[in-house]
Amino acid sequence: MPVPKKKTSKCRTRRRRAQHDKVAVKNSAACPECGATRLPHRVCMSCGTYKGRQVVPILVR
Ligand SMILES: [Zn+2]
Repeated sequence: MPVPKKKTSKCRTRRRRAQHDKVAVKNSAACPECGATRLPHRVCMSCGTYKGRQVVPILVR
C-alpha cells in the first residue's frame, strides 16, 4: 500500500480546500409581482406569490 512520504502541512491542506470552503453566493431573481429579490422556483417571501398566483397569505404588511 502506498504511503505518503511527507505529512501534508496545514497550510497546504487549507490552500487546497480554500476554493470550496468559501460561502457560496446563492443565485437570486427579482419577483415579477413586487420586484423583491427571491430565490428562483421559490415562493416570494414579501408578497407570497408564485407563478402569478397567491399561494401564501400575507400576514404582516
Ligand atoms: Zn413578490
